[in-house]
Amino acid sequence: MKRRYDWLIVGAGYTGAVVAERLASLCDKRVLVIDRREHIAGNAFDARNDDGILFHQYGPHIFHTNSDEIAGYLSRFTEWKPYEHRVLGVVDGRLIPIPFNLTSLEILFPAPEAARLGRLLVDAYGMDRKVPILKMRESAHAGVRDLADFIYRNVFEGYTTKQWALRPEELSPSVTARVPVHVSYDDRYFQDSFQKMPREGYTKMFERMLDHPNITVALGTDYETAKDEVLFDRMLYTGAIDEFFGYEFGPLPYRSLSFDFRTYRQRRHQSVGQVNYPVSHDYTRITEMGHLTGEWNGSTTVAIEYPIAHRPGETVPYYPIPRDENAAHHDRYVAFARKEAPDVLFAGRLGDYKYYNMDQAVGRALALFRKEILGLPAEALPAA
Ligand code: FAD
Ligand code: UDP
Repeated sequence: MKRRYDWLIVGAGYTGAVVAERLASLCDKRVLVIDRREHIAGNAFDARNDDGILFHQYGPHIFHTNSDEIAGYLSRFTEWKPYEHRVLGVVDGRLIPIPFNLTSLEILFPAPEAARLGRLLVDAYGMDRKVPILKMRESAHAGVRDLADFIYRNVFEGYTTKQWALRPEELSPSVTARVPVHVSYDDRYFQDSFQKMPREGYTKMFERMLDHPNITVALGTDYETAKDEVLFDRMLYTGAIDEFFGYEFGPLPYRSLSFDFRTYRQRRHQSVGQVNYPVSHDYTRITEMGHLTGEWNGSTTVAIEYPIAHRPGETVPYYPIPRDENAAHHDRYVAFARKEAPDVLFAGRLGDYKYYNMDQAVGRALALFRKEILGLPAEALPAA
């Protein structure tokens, strides 16, 4: 006999785990969470490698948010370690802070020229301001435009072309605006009020989230098999919406990655958590896990990140590619879903085809739970 659940949740990443946890603990619903991978935590999955080092299998994940609610929600399932991410970029054979800031100018230019360019930026934008590079290139001031072109060529053009196989202006401006030029000496990669790493890693946090008598987790289980093997009343699908509909309107474009993990018998391999290679090499960045986790056991592991083309069914669709024509393509799937599968909820980085950070994925899941499941205004926080 087939087992019956109130909910089937496809995907054990943030989106699926948060909604499952809310349904189980607030609504007393019986939830089956499936994932085709052999583990929970989606792309945030971490584990110890053969050298005993905690590493992030799908690329470095640093938690940061300005939302007390999201930090508070996740804090039920983990304690935290303080960590502020710092990134250097190799430009002109030198290591400069990324996002590009006043220190970057001082490293790349002789002192009087750096001072002049710094004053130019402060006069144009004010101190402690953040300016997206594509905006800076449109400045009415020729000197600012020249500097913007320099930063564009040395920091954004090569990196973006490697990462997306598109130039910065072919993408939504929001992509390069994630790493704006900082008119300041603040060299932190993120400026969010809450920047911490889960003390025992992301996977442990997910284990606690899903540890509820109403939740069953089935790993190594694809939706295609599960849908015929169990009965369920409602479904949340956090996989790719184009795949769900058999690529009815053609595959949505994604960008994939290939990781080369290397372990060295040394204290630290690089001086900061992440070094970017905006101009040289086929890889975009090298991240050293020990900086992120604060751990050291005699060896240190780095992840070298190579962007690659995505082939549906073969590679992981790591990144939706934010640009207008892709958003319109996704809208076609959303309209189709409303007609063909009105009872299915789609959400998450793949379901929504949105470039969410982890906190945004949690925020989206909490809002979906309130609005689309409980029928409350998205802002109203139900009592825990
Ligand atoms: P996912 O984590 O992708 O989970 C979806 C799950 O669904 C997957 O496990 C998949 O196997 C499963 N699935 C899909 N289809 C099916 C199916 N048909 N049947 C069964 N299972 C299925 N965010 C940050 O805040 N900070 C960072 O530093 C950061 N770094 C990142 C680095 C990289 C390289 C990448 C790719 C992302 C990074 N992110 C970061 C973003 C973060 O990974 C996402 O915001 C988050 O994982 C999204 O969660 P999700 O649940 O929407 O999707
Ligand atoms: N970017 C860049 N040079 C850098 C860092 C970032 O051109 O040194 C651009 C690039 O297009 C990248 C985007 O800014 O994809 C967003 O960077 P982020 O670090 O947020 O990317 P993610 O961690 O999501 O891969």
